[in-house]
Amino acid sequence: MIELGEAQEYVLGRVSVLGAVATPLREACGLVTAEAVASPELVPPFANTAVDGYAVRSIDTTGATAELRVELEVIGTIAAGSASDAVVGSGQAMRIMTGAPMPAGADAVVMVEWTESFDGGGRVAIDRAVAAGDAVRGAGEDLRPGDRVLDVGTVLTPGHLGVLASIGRYEVSAHRRPKVGVFSTGDELVEGSAPLAPGQIRDSNRYTLLALLERDGFEVVDLGVVVDDEARIEDAVRRGVAGCDALLTSGGVSMGDFDYVKAVLDRIGDMRWMQVAIKPAKPLAFGLVDGVAVFGLPGNPVSSMVSFELFARPGLRKMMGHSRLHRPRLVGTAPDGFGRRPDDKTHFARVRVDVVNGRFDVRSAGGQGSHQLTAMAGADALAVLPDGDGVAPGGDVEFFLVN
Ligand code: AMP
Ligand code: MG
Repeated sequence: MIELGEAQEYVLGRVSVLGAVATPLREACGLVTAEAVASPELVPPFANTAVDGYAVRSIDTTGATAELRVELEVIGTIAAGSASDAVVGSGQAMRIMTGAPMPAGADAVVMVEWTESFDGGGRVAIDRAVAAGDAVRGAGEDLRPGDRVLDVGTVLTPGHLGVLASIGRYEVSAHRRPKVGVFSTGDELVEGSAPLAPGQIRDSNRYTLLALLERDGFEVVDLGVVVDDEARIEDAVRRGVAGCDALLTSGGVSMGDFDYVKAVLDRIGDMRWMQVAIKPAKPLAFGLVDGVAVFGLPGNPVSSMVSFELFARPGLRKMMGHSRLHRPRLVGTAPDGFGRRPDDKTHFARVRVDVVNGRFDVRSAGGQGSHQLTAMAGADALAVLPDGDGVAPGGDVEFFLVN
């Protein structure tokens, strides 16, 4: 057996970052930038009002209170999207709406809640004094020409897309999303709700793996179910690697008589078959076929998901240009503890995590067999149980969130 870290390093050492392409903003969320972007212009582009109200010369409002109001002449109205050539003079004000440019002469805005209009809108009474700059958003307060808005390696959030749009950039250079093919292997696998013949089960791994991939922003290709036959498996692998950046298979990498995935990959690829010191998901076949990364994940439903989490996801994230490849590990309390026996392996338990008074309580999510997919489905996290006797009730336990 090899240690988890060694197996992960091996995988990461053999995959490379995909090239960058000019990507429209609407397709770029979650991608990793391959260019730095600086603002070519001021944002906001002009000084404007942060509130609906009256643009004034602040000095004219000196001493204004609800009892002793200041009255000003209203010389016009400026809506957002328009501009005015009028100049606000001494004793004057302009009605102004949020986002509209400040008129010349005015240096502050009195919000409408502190005013009362009269004389059919021709005059306004002001309840409060304002200081120069009050409720004014200065030109360039967010960005000035040359300010960096994105670095190379930024994971694009919805906010970044908004920033790019605000400076008129509708394309950004970002690493491609890996296109990942998925197939299941096994003579026992069927699809559909017809009654099962003896020995048959329904394929579930393809559904979980395709969804895991899509949730992480990878592009998927569903390559179906392949029977335990060397020629068929070889054909599926060749088709997969021809059209994809990576391939995930499940099943057929254990010690069984019909575990042909391992045999095929050994023959046509530059593969390494690993027994990793973890439970579940001990067997892993990984390597390159025609330069394309192939992850031969174990068949048990929980094992295939755990193997995806520990090996495929970090590898695919590297291909996508991410620098944070692994899920962050957190520490919580295990009120009920976690039992286990020494077996030279790190165990990954399916757990629920509750936040109690700002701390994490970590409890089993149910049956921990590698065939018991329901506990994995309901799990928030995988708890990491190092080799040994487990965690005593009330002890600390490390975990990482997966849902
Ligand atoms: P294998 O790795 O092919 O020996 O499969 C290990 C176990 O996982 C067996 O019980 C298989 O029936 C089961 N299994 C394999 N592939 C799938 C799948 N796609 N969906 C559900 N169970 C599977
Ligand atoms: Mg099988």
